Amino acid sequence: MPDTVINVQNLTRQFRRTTALDDVSLEVPAGIVMGLVGGNGAGKTTLIKHLLGLLKAKTGSVHVFGLDPVRDPVGVLGRIGYLSEDRDLPQWMRVDELLNFTQAYFPNWDPAYATELRETFDLDPKQRVKSLSRGQTARLGLLTALAHRPPLLVLDEPSSGLDAVVRRDILAAIIRTVADEGRTVLFSSHLLDEVDRVADRVAMLHNGRLVLSDNLQTVLDGHSRLTLRFAEPCETRPSLPGALSCDGSGHEWTVICNGQIDELRAAATSQGAEVVEQAKPSLDEVFVARVHQGRSPLDLNTEVNP
Ligand code: ATP
Repeated sequence: MPDTVINVQNLTRQFRRTTALDDVSLEVPAGIVMGLVGGNGAGKTTLIKHLLGLLKAKTGSVHVFGLDPVRDPVGVLGRIGYLSEDRDLPQWMRVDELLNFTQAYFPNWDPAYATELRETFDLDPKQRVKSLSRGQTARLGLLTALAHRPPLLVLDEPSSGLDAVVRRDILAAIIRTVADEGRTVLFSSHLLDEVDRVADRVAMLHNGRLVLSDNLQTVLDGHSRLTLRFAEPCETRPSLPGALSCDGSGHEWTVICNGQIDELRAAATSQGAEVVEQAKPSLDEVFVARVHQGRSPLDLNTEVNP
């Protein structure tokens, strides 16, 4: 197996006037959990569809296990467990029929693991898919993606529809187990705390652009949140070099920055502010700072598209 499982280079995708992906380059090494985050319409599903060969790269290139998913769908898809965002399962089948049907496509299907997952997910084998709740459908989709123990697991918004217990305890444990076995996971999410809990690396998409891609710990360690108290209330947002974002009002403002703390502290002091707190921001705060300030990723100080 190549060390790089997913290799996307300069991928751009246009849908009429919408740029769904804008010059995205992303490499995912084997054996890690990659969290793909972004708001609605950021381009997450479009990127995943390219990995599965459901969309052909018009500009740029996509390789999975060193293969082009459009030219070699058998070589790629046989090694991917995929949970689609819309959980499109055959409605007329019973749960056990769907499992038998799916098993036929995957020589590595593990029946004992499938049964274990079905019991963990509390799914009745005789129940029809069309009568399952949204959460049960999500569990069944996850089961079919997992039970052939794929080298690459691609989950599009896996938490959607799952209750908090399944999401926090079961899904997170499954994802970690898959990676601990040396397999690779790419999952998309707009829940940053979830990505924070399970991902090794994080890629942030915004309006089709990859604004940040790095090890999660590097991202968290590389950013700081400063709380500033100004002697005089500020009517407008203070201009502070190195600040990715600056929010607040009056005397108190909160700044997220990526390094450059000494310069920022000096600038704040010269503007009559005292730094009353310095802390590590959450991934959520880093994401908001990165995408909502209208700054080009090239202006930012962290590695982009490693
Ligand atoms: P969400 O979290 O809401 O599912 P996403 O990050 O998965 O969003 P995409 O589904 O990849 O986003 O969509 C990215 C952009 O491309 C959106 O503006 C969407 O409307 C547009 N888009 C996606 N597929 C098509 C299509 N087949 N035709 C036209 N526009 C499309």
